[in-house]
Amino acid sequence: MPVFDSLNFDDHEGVHFFSDDASGLKTIIAVHDTTRGPAAGGTRLWTYDNPQAAIDDALNLSRAMSYKNAMADIPFGGGKGVIMRPSGDFDRKALFESYGKAIESLGGVYCTAEDVGVSTADMEVVRTQTAYVAGLDTGTAASGDPSPVTAEGVFRGLHVAAKNALGQSDLKNVRVAVQGLGHVGYSLCEKLRRAGAKLWVADINEQAVLKAEQELGAVIVSTNEIYAQDVDIFAPCALGGAINSNSIDQLKAKIIGGAANNQLATADMGAALRERGILFCPDYVLNGGGIINVAAELSGRYNPSWVDEKLNGLCQTLNDIFKTAEQENLPTSIVADRMARQRIQTAAL
Ligand code: NAD
Repeated sequence: MPVFDSLNFDDHEGVHFFSDDASGLKTIIAVHDTTRGPAAGGTRLWTYDNPQAAIDDALNLSRAMSYKNAMADIPFGGGKGVIMRPSGDFDRKALFESYGKAIESLGGVYCTAEDVGVSTADMEVVRTQTAYVAGLDTGTAASGDPSPVTAEGVFRGLHVAAKNALGQSDLKNVRVAVQGLGHVGYSLCEKLRRAGAKLWVADINEQAVLKAEQELGAVIVSTNEIYAQDVDIFAPCALGGAINSNSIDQLKAKIIGGAANNQLATADMGAALRERGILFCPDYVLNGGGIINVAAELSGRYNPSWVDEKLNGLCQTLNDIFKTAEQENLPTSIVADRMARQRIQTAAL
């Protein structure tokens, strides 16, 4: 299917395809919008069923990055890199060197960092080929893995949600079901535990759930049953599409708020959550902490107070979304999209 016919095509400014037989690289770098600045967004390394699935993912995720960066109030537009994981054994260094060359060839229109399946070590390899990369462990402005900051943003945002939906200003004894205990999910669990929340967790990685049970007293739940837990908050921290026509009727939580991108499998899920009295924290608002951290690094001078201020700004934005949704009787997802588009349009003036 041509890119233009994809349901996820949203007048993207550019969709770039790179392939390199020697390293096995097959990547799509989608640049959605650069009105607010160069496109910034992480790189995902994933096994896709077919190239179309990878294209759709890149288109969808890059649009979400435009919205995320606008809501995080950072001077970047939206883009995303998607690498189709080569089948069998492959030379990881060669793959990311080749990917770095691809980014360099775009001349700065796209800046990258880690996303699912990609590590700080991979980004160090990318850096050997291009300066348009962050989330590094070394260098003058190095900020490392953005995941802990993403988790901090989600954690702070959940306080705002709890205040709005549960009438509680802290998370003490709040029951939280966390789906996915990876870089962000586990860090979020640690913070929640320290705040006195009670945890139910699921992951396809058995080691991760056992660790959470031992270290954080979490209750382990199967990946199928995590949706139906009798909890206050459901936190999707795995992949996208957690809220779908199957899962929605299982939910007992009053709040949906987690790190995963594109949590609503279809746009109508936003209204479906509202009808059920469930407060949805728009994912690209709640999980903006990581890109804020990346932006601090890309500025060339990492400033922790700037990051802290921007995280508090996210909480203010989230609160504004909740209030507007209430006043206008609209899904929070619709209000957030509208606000993000307004911020992008205002930057164009
Ligand atoms: P990760 O790969 O470290 O963790 C994902 C976890 O989800 C893994 O432990 C994996 O085993 C688990 N998982 C996969 N399928 C599952 C399933 N069906 N049920 C339960 N668990 C499952 O990724 P991450 O960096 O922690 O990111 C998590 C999500 O947050 C992703 O959607 C990512 O795009 C998004 N996100 C991450 C960041 C960041 O800073 N890392 C920033 C913004 C958004």
